[in-house]
Amino acid sequence: MKYVMILPDGCADEPIPMLGDRTILEAARIPNMTQIARQGIVGWSNNTPKALAAGSDVATMSLLGYDPMAFYTGRAPLEAAAMGIEMGPEDWAVRCNLVTIENGKMVSFNAEQITSEEGAELIEAAQERLGSETVTFFSGVSYRNIVLWRELPDFPAPFGEETRTFAPHDYSDSSIFGAHPQGPGSVELTKLMSEVHRIFSDHPVNRRRIANGKKPATDVWLWGQGRKPSMPTFTERFGKTGAMITAVDLLRGLAVNLGWDCIPVEGATGFFNTNFKGKGEAAAAALEKYDVVCVHVEATDEAGHDGDPKTKVYSLEQIDEHIVGPLHEAAKKYGEYRILVTPDHPTPCRLKTHTHLNVPWLMCGTGFQSNGIGVYTEAEAAKSAVHFENGFEMMEFFMNGPERS
Ligand SMILES: [Zn+2]
Repeated sequence: MKYVMILPDGCADEPIPMLGDRTILEAARIPNMTQIARQGIVGWSNNTPKALAAGSDVATMSLLGYDPMAFYTGRAPLEAAAMGIEMGPEDWAVRCNLVTIENGKMVSFNAEQITSEEGAELIEAAQERLGSETVTFFSGVSYRNIVLWRELPDFPAPFGEETRTFAPHDYSDSSIFGAHPQGPGSVELTKLMSEVHRIFSDHPVNRRRIANGKKPATDVWLWGQGRKPSMPTFTERFGKTGAMITAVDLLRGLAVNLGWDCIPVEGATGFFNTNFKGKGEAAAAALEKYDVVCVHVEATDEAGHDGDPKTKVYSLEQIDEHIVGPLHEAAKKYGEYRILVTPDHPTPCRLKTHTHLNVPWLMCGTGFQSNGIGVYTEAEAAKSAVHFENGFEMMEFFMNGPERS
């Protein structure tokens, strides 16, 4: 049996006045998704436990069949896994943004999209001066870096469940008063941030940026800390191999923790200009080797964050034409197959951010008969008798089929 998962990130939405009070799913031309809806089951799930922040990391963990309340440990450890950083069970990964802070204000949470080369030079300087047996700085892409806090036998990492940190993008153009780390380890994190500030203040990269009329990366902002998630692999849990196609670090990190391979695709950007066709082709080819192939597309979510319904409709139509259609055809060649299309969470254009609400999904293939709904919309899915309040339970239904669940 071959399994195809297609995740149009955040595509669920609300009725939008600009679209004649239709949702994105209602307004978009999506014949291939409609075909799956006619042949199979339309249902709904909730992938985001109330206690956790709504985001792709938590919601996709649910979609992949893992309870985030049991397995989610934070954002930084997933990004660390995506960057190939090895973590011990007691080590902590901490997200390390390059930011611009002026007069107590978060002027830019990404140091004006600093280049990876500039970022690497700065992070290297921090590592040279402040790196130790416990603290290591790793440079990533652009402003996104990681600090790894290693546990030593007599010197455990100072953090705990009660450690609170705050996302720098939530303080854009605002005062950072009250936004510094709190709880266990906060003194260490705040000290590290102020030491880095001194190193960056006269760093050549920043002097060059200022000379070129750009904002300097004045600081690092430490947040999103967590231990390595301790998850059974997907093969241990479901007896299948898998591969992930995505442009997003968090999802790559999830896949690594599941023991899945990640398949890079040229031109996969995470935006509406992504290589939809290339992703569809790479996924179709991967079916030969893997039991489960998951294609994640960020473009729909980004359009939601931009509050741009037109681009969101366009992105969903591209996913339907270049990914859902060709992959459905490719899967059919294997005889026994199942295909699932689902967003992780809603990203309504009106709100420009993720919500905790339900998402509509559809699946068809071996063992699945039509449940009579036949269209893919939020309103119709909400009428379905097939639903999962705990989104992580859907994977078992998808893997085993209706009879065995
Ligand atoms: Zn998402």
